[in-house]
Amino acid sequence: MRERGTASGAMACANLDDAGCNWAAAPDHDATKDADDPGFCLSCRTTRTIPDLSLAQNRDHWRDAEAAKRWVLWGLMRLGWFGPEDNGPPPIFDMIAEETSAGPVSVTMGHAEGVITLNVSEADPARLALRQAELGEPYRTVMGHLRHEIAHYLHWRLIGDAGFAHAFRSLFGDERADYGAALQRHYEDPQPAGETHISSYATAHPHEDWAETAAHVLHLLDIADSFGATGFRTEVDDAWRQDVYREAPSDAVIDRAAAIGVGMNHVNRAMGLADLYPFVLAPGVREKLLFAFEALRRG
Ligand SMILES: [Zn+2]
Ligand SMILES: [Zn+2]
Repeated sequence: MRERGTASGAMACANLDDAGCNWAAAPDHDATKDADDPGFCLSCRTTRTIPDLSLAQNRDHWRDAEAAKRWVLWGLMRLGWFGPEDNGPPPIFDMIAEETSAGPVSVTMGHAEGVITLNVSEADPARLALRQAELGEPYRTVMGHLRHEIAHYLHWRLIGDAGFAHAFRSLFGDERADYGAALQRHYEDPQPAGETHISSYATAHPHEDWAETAAHVLHLLDIADSFGATGFRTEVDDAWRQDVYREAPSDAVIDRAAAIGVGMNHVNRAMGLADLYPFVLAPGVREKLLFAFEALRRG
């Protein structure tokens, strides 16, 4: 029997063995002492559906996807989401695999009314590499999917605020426009990202523009924060020692992350690897990134 306590004395998450989860059980578990509560952490509590674990590869992919989810949720918690001060509904995750004991199924990733469907099978490196090549999406990752779909969920949380809705629509367009028709137009005649969108997919509809933009804010925040945590410094060093999630000015964080991205692209080339962050932040894109950053920080 493995010791279930953690270094801090808190109970380990009940998914320690099943999913390799290294978080502590959520504090309210200890407080409620509910006999039916297995004692999951804040991340595992958001998982409603897990894949068919009678297939060994599904367990590996689920563990990797849960690890990515913890990483992404931790960044959002640092922005103020899902903590004690957040009274809104937390996201609910259906973690689905493409293989089941009854045969293969197709998994459509997406967000609807607070529920996020994630295809954990893309945690398989060979499958992911194939999809990256087939779909022309070299930066397709499980972490990217998580940030994109959580961005849709955060928009669903934010859009009830009249101030946000008005400012959002004046910058991104009206998200109440016909989504199905817009996506069909995009797939028939994809538009280049141009000067105002972070990606071609962002041009499809204001909902996708927001999800792509907000996902990039989370990427850039993590690049700036992770780089700083190593002790490395760039010449873009204003606000360098501030917490990029909470304190540093948002435009300084974007500039810093972009500078790190350019530098790390060259470092990766030294190893024959793909660029870390090969995206161009045109002024129109930057304006949207700053808007999304401020909105996410308000969370
Ligand atoms: Zn957990
Ligand atoms: Zn989307």
